[in-house]
Amino acid sequence: MKVLVVGGGGREHALVWKLKQSPRVKEIYCAPGNAGIAGDAVCVGISAEDIPSLLAFARDKGIDLTVVGPEAPLCAGLTDQFEQAGLKVFGPSRAAAEIEGSKVVAKDIMAKYNIPTAGYAVFTEPAAAVSYIDRTGAPCVVKAEGLAAGKGVIVALDKQTAVNAVNSIMVDKDFGTAGDRIVVEECLLGEEVSILAFTDGYNVVPMVSSQDHKRAFDNDQGPNTGGMGAYAPAPVYTPELHKQVMDEILVPMIRALDAEGRTYRGVIYAGLMVTEQGPKVLEFNARFGDPETQPVLALLDTDLVEIIDAVLAGRLNKIEIRWKKQASVCVVLASGGYPGAYEKGKVISGLDRVAGNVVVFHAGTAAKEGKIVTAGGRVLGVTATGPDILQAIESAYKAVDNISFEGMQYRRDIGYKAIERIK
Ligand code: ATP
Repeated sequence: MKVLVVGGGGREHALVWKLKQSPRVKEIYCAPGNAGIAGDAVCVGISAEDIPSLLAFARDKGIDLTVVGPEAPLCAGLTDQFEQAGLKVFGPSRAAAEIEGSKVVAKDIMAKYNIPTAGYAVFTEPAAAVSYIDRTGAPCVVKAEGLAAGKGVIVALDKQTAVNAVNSIMVDKDFGTAGDRIVVEECLLGEEVSILAFTDGYNVVPMVSSQDHKRAFDNDQGPNTGGMGAYAPAPVYTPELHKQVMDEILVPMIRALDAEGRTYRGVIYAGLMVTEQGPKVLEFNARFGDPETQPVLALLDTDLVEIIDAVLAGRLNKIEIRWKKQASVCVVLASGGYPGAYEKGKVISGLDRVAGNVVVFHAGTAAKEGKIVTAGGRVLGVTATGPDILQAIESAYKAVDNISFEGMQYRRDIGYKAIERIK
């Protein structure tokens, strides 16, 4: 079969890498891809958001299956348009993807169906939001309603920071129309865990748990980023917690979405806070998370094409999904200055020295005059698998030692929370 992967980051490289292992995949394309993906797939120069061109390409090439990585094309209705054209596509419809596209929609559904999440209020006027914050106080979390590439969320430890966040989102319009409405949330305390799950609209099959590292610097210091690394599985996610998450969060949410006329097929991502009162939802995403997908797919034994087929046929209960009984760690190598301003075009060396149970997934890379150069904030995801978390961490950092580019920055503590917990 011919497969098209939409997107061009580390997540999409991991998807291409995994899909390519399927004996059923004969040709694989990626739009737009990157310099690393080009080694595994034919990259096509179409932006992930250019749905008409993607549709035309899929038709012309006779693509049998399209797998969508990022949220923007899903929220813009890529799946609906491909399905209308009779093309097979893996990713939720526009209405289902709104659980990510609109934080108000997501929160209202959770409230209506008693799915545990932080208390919240929605505002369309900055003055009303400010007077609410004045009354309820800090800490609190201010969120732009729409998509803001992970930057539209401000955890405010004091009132002034919260008020500044309201102004930057609603008055200065830092995120455009994504900030027409805001959600002000109760600030939850605890450890975060990410649960990705496959669902066919009724059956829900979770993947191995994982944990992202959102802050730029070691010990969770510095600004929030798209994610500086991840590991799987996450020991904080105990069997008891798993039962609670399935019974109180994932299954009820999939039922709720169906009842709301937003039947959800694809991968659902629950970002959770494990609080003293139990797990609570921080956010839902309508796709594989990045970087979590890199260590999670590294542990998946089953053919991903078989799983996707089962999802699309509504028979996810008929397939056994197997995971390696190992651990995996992804260390993100980022450009100096990220998540702020950074330079591009730095030559990357040492990629050929990486071996063993390590895969280097490319994110922001490009090919230039026969060399691979940096082309984004997050550049590479060095992903190692090992018999346990400690050995996976060691392998990942050993591989990192081989790679360099000017200004390269990375966290040295990816996975250490897992070790603390195991101790
Ligand atoms: P992503 O890049 O994951 O899509 P996003 O912009 O959708 O991010 P959220 O995941 O909602 O934003 O929030 C980002 C981070 O902010 C969370 O991972 C968490 O660390 C923190 N956060 C969000 N909501 C809360 C909350 N209610 N209490 C405490 N921390 C929170």
